Amino acid sequence: MPASLTNTHAIRGAIARLDDPNYSRWEAQIRRAGGCRQPIHLRGRVEHWDQATGELLHRYNTRTEPDGVLRVPCKTRRASRCPSCAETYRADTYHLIRAGLVGGKGVPESVTAHPCLFVTLTAPSFGLVHTRREKNGKIHPCHARRDAQKCPHGRVLSCTVRHGADEECLGESLCPDCYDYTGSVLFNAAAPLLWKRFAEALRRHLAKSGGLTLAEMRAQLVVSFAKVAEYQRRGVVHFHAVIRLDGPDGPTSTPPAWATLALLAQAVQHAASVVTATVPAVDGEPARVLRWGHQVDARPITLDGELTEQAVAGYIAKYATKAAECIGTIDRRVFPTEDLAALPVRDHARQLIAECLRLGALDDLADLRLIQWAHMLGFRGHFSTRSRHYSTTLGSIRADRAEHAIGEEISTGRLPLFEEDTVLVVAEWHYVGRGFTPGDALLAASLAGTALPLLSAEFGSDAR
Ligand SMILES: [Zn+2]
Ligand SMILES: [Zn+2]
Ligand SMILES: [Zn+2]
Repeated sequence: MPASLTNTHAIRGAIARLDDPNYSRWEAQIRRAGGCRQPIHLRGRVEHWDQATGELLHRYNTRTEPDGVLRVPCKTRRASRCPSCAETYRADTYHLIRAGLVGGKGVPESVTAHPCLFVTLTAPSFGLVHTRREKNGKIHPCHARRDAQKCPHGRVLSCTVRHGADEECLGESLCPDCYDYTGSVLFNAAAPLLWKRFAEALRRHLAKSGGLTLAEMRAQLVVSFAKVAEYQRRGVVHFHAVIRLDGPDGPTSTPPAWATLALLAQAVQHAASVVTATVPAVDGEPARVLRWGHQVDARPITLDGELTEQAVAGYIAKYATKAAECIGTIDRRVFPTEDLAALPVRDHARQLIAECLRLGALDDLADLRLIQWAHMLGFRGHFSTRSRHYSTTLGSIRADRAEHAIGEEISTGRLPLFEEDTVLVVAEWHYVGRGFTPGDALLAASLAGTALPLLSAEFGSDAR
């Protein structure tokens, strides 16, 4: 739909909303949703009954709300879907990660003395790709080779360009016909299993070094971690993790003296180099043994050095709100019947998606569910995970905020104050939809102070 037509449509919708006698209530809902781009619409009711007297203390029903629904934030972690809710998620993740490094949110400050590393596990190479090489502030040529060979497809495998940070070709292969798209997709699919095996091997190595069985070690030492997946431009995931040694009760207890930082570093290198995941032989191709790339980075986190706790928490929180769309694929499922040539993605991503669809159709690889995860280039793991003892949980950070919000409602007289255990709360909610009509989106953007030209561009793509 042309932008001008869409705009007329949106403006008409916005005027209708402004004319609605219930407008101020609608505006209040939108303001409370804090700039959410796709608020969830709920229909339902909540009643507070006094258990002793059977008296109805307070009743709320969405019937009286604009359009009969309550709009609440979508709470997504994906910045591509809702920048505002993703920002809340990012901030919560930051505090949670930081608490595990320096204390706070119920974690004692003594946690700073526990051996702790910031570890990056990468994928191996699946072929040469255009890369921006930066060393000591200088940009180096991409892949300068004096006697560069020609590949079997007649392409010279050399690139002397000093690439800019935002160049389209970054992450694209020097020869698409040589590139191992199969390996790349299978690595992404195997990455969650490789991580699980890495964590197991790490524990085994530590136990062996302490002369203990795994069960015996559990009484002295637990390994706590927080990890996040990041897509590299070439379309493979790698993991960043905070790995920390604690006593048996987590961050509140001291690890044994033999569990040193040096031992942790050694265990990380060992575990990363030994674990593998095997994908069965299919379609005339031999079985593949997948493993981490050689570059395993493990660095201590210091309060004032190069890698501070703020830097690490910021890094993990940033990637917790991103997914594959950042490297040029799309933010929705791809169906096998779709015309891949028409997808608005980079060629490299298109090839990886096509490979997911091809391999996903093979019975022997059905478990990898590659068709369902084609838009994620084969990766189906969680983006951001933490072990039970890492620090606090996102849930408790959110509960703190919710309690604060309820406190505010009570103090400003919007909610009656009840004794918790004498009141029976009856609530019933139904999901009835999500997002905005074009007119509502226009008004919501102006309430949030978003630039209008940007918004009308979005209508163009939304109104397909
Ligand atoms: Zn949202
Ligand atoms: Zn290049
Ligand atoms: Zn080639």
